[in-house]
Amino acid sequence: MADATTAARTRAFLAGTPAQVAGARSIRYRLLPQIDELRDTAADRLRAQHLSARTAEGFVLAIEGAANVSAERSASWWIDHRGVRPELLIADHSAGTDGDRCIVCCGARVRAAQRRAAR
Ligand SMILES: [Zn+2]
Repeated sequence: MADATTAARTRAFLAGTPAQVAGARSIRYRLLPQIDELRDTAADRLRAQHLSARTAEGFVLAIEGAANVSAERSASWWIDHRGVRPELLIADHSAGTDGDRCIVCCGARVRAAQRRAAR
């Protein structure tokens, strides 16, 4: 659930042009509470006993993905990822917010390379 704490976390946080920050703010404001909830659920399940190593690993990756996404400061990153479901967002960024598993990040890297090549 979005609240004043989430709003404060978002306001002070984002980096980009004023227009990018304004756009990214609402995307992040909407997604962060869902990401926090997924992280909390994964942490709760991880505390359960008799998990297989594979299951536990999945919860650890979800927690790491949520931490990486929550820490992302680039306004353009949030705008690029605006249509991505929270579950996919944390799954695809467990190794970092420029992870090779994310089709959005891969596309952004390709576009950046194309811009450099065009100069
Ligand atoms: Zn991505």
